[in-house]
Amino acid sequence: MIITMGEEEKTSGDKAKSQLSFDDVLSFIEFIEECYGEQFIITEDKNNDKNEKKESSSTKNKGAGIFEKIMEEVSKLPDPYHIIREEKQRMLKDIAERIKVCKKCELWKGRTNAVPGDGNPSAQIVFVGEAPGYEEDKRGKPFVGKSGKLLIKMIQDVLGMRREDVFITNIVRCRPPENRTPEKEEISACLNYLFEELSVIRPRIVVALGAPAAKAILGKDEKISEMRGKFYTRPEFTVFVTFHPAFVVRNPSYTETLENDFKKIKEFFES
Ligand code: SF4
Repeated sequence: MIITMGEEEKTSGDKAKSQLSFDDVLSFIEFIEECYGEQFIITEDKNNDKNEKKESSSTKNKGAGIFEKIMEEVSKLPDPYHIIREEKQRMLKDIAERIKVCKKCELWKGRTNAVPGDGNPSAQIVFVGEAPGYEEDKRGKPFVGKSGKLLIKMIQDVLGMRREDVFITNIVRCRPPENRTPEKEEISACLNYLFEELSVIRPRIVVALGAPAAKAILGKDEKISEMRGKFYTRPEFTVFVTFHPAFVVRNPSYTETLENDFKKIKEFFES
């Protein structure tokens, strides 16, 4: 947790604490309550009436005292980010279990394994492809074939992240016959799983890999040449469109374009 203070406060830790106002403390309490899902109640110490009166000449000092007491109590609780991460993991597991037994469209008939999303439940970036291929269907994991290798290389080399830092998923979770493009009805039957995953993860950016993913997420019917390389602002997250890595594996001359798109994603994070 980072608490940013003004220049003056930065000069000394003790000085910083002594300049906290009640407003600072109240905002901090609200933040902590949101993280822990617990209510913090501040009560007055009746036995310390005289001291309190002495200190009341400076409400800022009084604020600092409460802040220290809150921090003392908070330090006894488990890490909130750990709790949130575990809860998100549990919710994603629940979505994955439903995907594994789903029969909402005809694609279930040809699958070896349905392929739920995989990765960091608190990822800031989510990559969304089209549908599982041969390798993914066999192993039940997204992007584990040749195109997956290229995607991971871009994530590592250009973004400086690891596979376990991001979340990778698809718009359709069962392999279409002969790797054909999923039909509209199949996408509509399956798309809600993606939005469920995104509502749990709450990433900053969703990267649509290829035209079917971009069209499904943005609800647009435009060509990939019109959407690629652009950012689209949505209320919950930003969407960026690039090529599907499988297309680049088949057409290596587009590798540089894909790399440049990943540089734009990096700039987005750094801005
Ligand atoms: S593709 Fe999606 S909607 Fe169709 S059966 Fe598989 S999981 Fe269900």
